[in-house]
Amino acid sequence: MAKVVRVKSVLNKLKSQDDWFLLDYTVNPFMGCALNCTYCYIHGSKYGGEDTSVLQVKTNAPEVLYKQLKNRARNGEYGFIGLGTSTDPYPPLEEEQELTRELLKIMYRFKFPVHVSTKSTLILRDLELLKKMDEKAILPTNLKGKLGHGVIVSFSFSTVDHQLASIFESGASTVEERLETMQMFSDEGFLVGANLMPVLPFLSDSETKLDEMISKVKEYGGEYVLIAGLTLFGDKPSDCKVRYYETLEKYFPDLVPQTRRLMGNSFAPSRKYQYDLWKLSEKLAKKHNIRTRISSE
Ligand code: SF4
Repeated sequence: MAKVVRVKSVLNKLKSQDDWFLLDYTVNPFMGCALNCTYCYIHGSKYGGEDTSVLQVKTNAPEVLYKQLKNRARNGEYGFIGLGTSTDPYPPLEEEQELTRELLKIMYRFKFPVHVSTKSTLILRDLELLKKMDEKAILPTNLKGKLGHGVIVSFSFSTVDHQLASIFESGASTVEERLETMQMFSDEGFLVGANLMPVLPFLSDSETKLDEMISKVKEYGGEYVLIAGLTLFGDKPSDCKVRYYETLEKYFPDLVPQTRRLMGNSFAPSRKYQYDLWKLSEKLAKKHNIRTRISSE
């Protein structure tokens, strides 16, 4: 089920460049996300109390983006556009809708670089277009000569265990499909890597599990891993905190008390957990000779 909406703006300018994802702008063709991952905070009330369980399609996004990018290009305000920061840009209906594809064409027209994050193999449809963008995009001044790419493609995983993925991210392409798609993009010369986020407490955050995830990313051509822990928000039925604990109750009831203890009264695990996760990530990335940042410089 999807709803049509019209928007006044589709290009969001960040206050400063995002260090991790290298973004200056974000564009989301949809509101909500049909992939419906259990842990995803875009569902529920975190953003303005809006129930985003119904996918909203910004049908006039191309004409709005055209005007907004034309102005930015005229002023030389080039920067990476994050496509899919609060929705996957390749939900099933994109196959016939081609909204994401139209937006990419406009970014190409004005030579803007793009960082696409997805859990879907549908991105393969746009490989040739992305290749042209990779060559032609104008990078922001601080990344010129450092990145060598106008396109960054990140595939997202919270686990590489098929069974776990089918529970927590059932709407996504399978783990194997995502890894194989990453390999294809790598073989075509793209800068590719993985968002390992959120890693799931007691399910995919142990040294063994993280080691396996990082090793798979490396094996399938990933050049970097961006790793982060779980965040849980809200108390309404559609909120990810409620949905996540319901899922744990159903499939891993033994993990509910320890997960609640880990999260405490916060939306995120303790600072110590996050520090330990960071240390472990750095150690394992070093072992597998893979970066924990996108740029090599
Ligand atoms: S694919 Fe991304 S945006 Fe969509 S539900 Fe999953 S985590 Fe959220």
